[in-house]
Amino acid sequence: MSQKYTKKIFKILVMGDTGVGKTSLIYRTVTGEFPDPTTLKSTIGAAFFVKRVNVELENGLFEVVLQLWDFAGQEQFRQLMLRLFKGASGGLFVFDLTEPISFDDLKKFWVPAVEKELKVDFGKRPDVARNFVLVGNKADLIRERAINYDEIKTFAQEKNFKYIIVSSKTGQNVERLFEVLAKQLIMP
Ligand code: GDP
Ligand code: MG
Repeated sequence: MSQKYTKKIFKILVMGDTGVGKTSLIYRTVTGEFPDPTTLKSTIGAAFFVKRVNVELENGLFEVVLQLWDFAGQEQFRQLMLRLFKGASGGLFVFDLTEPISFDDLKKFWVPAVEKELKVDFGKRPDVARNFVLVGNKADLIRERAINYDEIKTFAQEKNFKYIIVSSKTGQNVERLFEVLAKQLIMP
């Protein structure tokens, strides 16, 4: 008996300040390697990379195609994100566990900007919030962690986001992150 196999494509924006590791995270999941920091060029504008995840649900087998949009987090490009949001299904809100400013900027800029763009309050719309994941990157720099876990957890709960700690450098939790995102996106 052949199983139902459905392909679904989603446009996903990878957001967060410059330096949090967005490009490294995308590179890690797409190639399986950590990019050499010395050759890693800062992203100008935007580009997307394709990540395929197979998900098995009760109602069948799905091939989830994630178009991961990478773009520079520089102040001058922030407005570009809002234009890119057209047609997007969800996103990753990435911060650097060793850099409190990057977390504050998610709270003060990135998350509110998306809420405004979608005209929703994530706190009141778990059905929309589940298309987004809060990602704390650089888990390998464990001694340099500088953000209180409770503060992160509280924010994630307030906004109905799943919170996942990853390391693009070691690959820790990276595959799990994309599996979780893919599952949440196709959840009935
Ligand atoms: P972006 O500006 O958000 O795209 O960040 P990049 O991917 O360019 O990474 C910024 C810097 O952080 C680079 O030097 C990366 O090598 C480094 N980096 C990215 N992810 C990790 C990680 O998980 N652990 C460590 N230790 N460094 C990382
Ligand atoms: Mg980048």
